[in-house]
Amino acid sequence: MASIESASKPEDSHVSQADVLAYWNAVPATANGMLGDMLRQYPQISRIDLRGSLNFLTKLRLGKASTERGLLDRGVDCGAGIGRVTAGFLSKVCCVVDAVEPVEKFAKVAREIILTGESRIGEVYVIGLQDWLPDKKYDIIWNQWCLGYLTDEELKQLLTRCKAALKGGGWIVVKENISMDIEGKGIFDKEDSSVTRTDEKFQALFLEAGLVMVKTELQTGFPKKLLPVRFYALQSH
Ligand code: SAH
Repeated sequence: MASIESASKPEDSHVSQADVLAYWNAVPATANGMLGDMLRQYPQISRIDLRGSLNFLTKLRLGKASTERGLLDRGVDCGAGIGRVTAGFLSKVCCVVDAVEPVEKFAKVAREIILTGESRIGEVYVIGLQDWLPDKKYDIIWNQWCLGYLTDEELKQLLTRCKAALKGGGWIVVKENISMDIEGKGIFDKEDSSVTRTDEKFQALFLEAGLVMVKTELQTGFPKKLLPVRFYALQSH
């Protein structure tokens, strides 16, 4: 976390899409670029992360007779970057994976991912999540390490749209860093113009979007020095 700004305005109000895009356009379209300093310091993180996501989804699906062990029909990787999550996780559990990513050079790499077996890349939407209007129905809408680029209001609106784009029994999953600020505030990071929210803030926004949280847990196995990473599985009722 490079520079932390504490001001009286809500932390999310400092997020600027122009600054976000300037930051990400200057980042190389590589796996190393995606996870930045974190991955350089801890190269094992991506593997632990992807395995944790698979475990979380497996637990979510337990007891769901309709989905059983088979592939889900369609998923979408929100804020996909170069498709690390698509290639390493979502394509293993979905027949088709769409992606939403505003940075063209990342979207280009995501589009070119070659998947094996039954899975394939569907649509790649080159757009910010604040402007994305889902036009398909999804079994799973995965949001990881990208929601800090949206203001609270944009996030609430996005979640409301995603709720309408879920198939019956489908999930929105949020997997994000959590602010551990002692005053219980979000943390604005000037470097990439992002806000890291508290657990309470996330849960309040989910509620405002009319979503029900059916499961939440922490990602385990990450280095202690990093912020905690929390999964939330959300459904429409
Ligand atoms: N989810 C991926 C990528 C994380 S890096 C992974 O876990 O590997 C953060 C990504 O969010 C970058 O690709 C960046 O371009 C994207 N991003 C930035 N602003 C965004 C916005 N407004 N909407 C969607 N994605 C955004």
